[in-house]
Amino acid sequence: MNILVINAGSSSLKFQLYAMQWESVLAKGKVERIGMDSAILTYEPTDMREVREVSEILEHTTAIRKMLKLLLHPEHGVLKDIHEINAVGHRVVHGGESFSGSAIVDDEVKREIRRLFDLAPLHNPAHMLGIQAVEANMPSVPQAVVFDTAFHQTMPPVAYLYPIPMVLYKKHQIRRYGFHGTSHAYVSERAAAILGRPLEDLKIVTCHIGNGASCTAVMNGKSMDTSMGMTPLEGLMMGTRSGDIDPAIVPYAMDKEELTLGEVSSMLNKHSGLTAISQLGSDMREITEAMEAGDRSARLAFEMYEYRLRKYIGAYAAAMNGMDAIVFTAGVGENSAVLRAAVCRNLSFFGVELDEEANSRRESGERVITRNSSRVQVLVIPTNEELVIARETHQLILNQNNVV
Ligand code: ADP
Repeated sequence: MNILVINAGSSSLKFQLYAMQWESVLAKGKVERIGMDSAILTYEPTDMREVREVSEILEHTTAIRKMLKLLLHPEHGVLKDIHEINAVGHRVVHGGESFSGSAIVDDEVKREIRRLFDLAPLHNPAHMLGIQAVEANMPSVPQAVVFDTAFHQTMPPVAYLYPIPMVLYKKHQIRRYGFHGTSHAYVSERAAAILGRPLEDLKIVTCHIGNGASCTAVMNGKSMDTSMGMTPLEGLMMGTRSGDIDPAIVPYAMDKEELTLGEVSSMLNKHSGLTAISQLGSDMREITEAMEAGDRSARLAFEMYEYRLRKYIGAYAAAMNGMDAIVFTAGVGENSAVLRAAVCRNLSFFGVELDEEANSRRESGERVITRNSSRVQVLVIPTNEELVIARETHQLILNQNNVV
């Protein structure tokens, strides 16, 4: 069975085609600048030459049509017939309280995703465009949706409620949802497999540290708390997002700087975090280099980032009354040996014994970076959200076929 995985943003669309028999990628690519006359389509068929096209792509439907044309192209294609795509799986950021798992797309599911537009105005409408674009081009192909929030639906009320008037939760569903769920679920499962222990017996803190960053307390295979909240702004310090701040700063800054709500929201989402403190931008590579060259703002940004991450790890060890493993994943987590070393060195109290050599070795695969004697094992596990979406979609289609 071949599954096409789509991650649709408001002006971009990423895709990956999987052959599920071997879980191998046949082709992948992306369309950027949708809505413009110079949209860029990049297409990478496995073991073949990359194709790059610049053309007018005004809508997601056109982006999907162009992608299909390349997948079926006599020279660059990896398929002979469009019917070789058996299903499409979409990443959807917000599933609210309605979805604790993935779902086959039908009218009811679409209605529910629309109802959640308010909770994720930057994401869910774009995902809906992706779903409709697939419908327009491949009307008979089943589609599934896999939610970033679903894994966290196991959180207990003590973790997901905010201590504010209950009417806000009851009337407006204001609560913690958490994000990056497919990644946290995937790396915690891989960690258990690598450690050779049942996931159901483990207390793991998973750290998904990319441009956006979140930490999850995974207890016995279930998310019991996570650092992102109702939106992806809460929690860790990130590339451009502030993470946790005193909420009273918002009205105070609005008053003192004469900011509108929109401006303050943009400040916290786009001009805070590493960017604000380092004054160099949000890329951890540049910040680390500048820090090593003696830049004091870069050092402060790095130290705040590491400190805030470590506080969450400690909090989750307390929340779970123990911690067997810490997992680092995503762009910074997988690649920044310097950040991992700083975090681990400061967690010796918990029994973390870093293997400095294993941590700084230049390799990209899954690995343990602590000594055998370490009471808490620390692992680096490359995330693979697309594979999780393909697997979930595959399973839903198999279940559906069995029922019919
Ligand atoms: P996104 O959240 O957009 O999916 P990624 O998980 O791809 O982001 O992470 C992107 C970030 O990873 C970049 O901003 C960069 O700071 C960081 N990164 C990538 N490679 C390295 C590296 N070698 N060292 C430190 N940071 C890195």
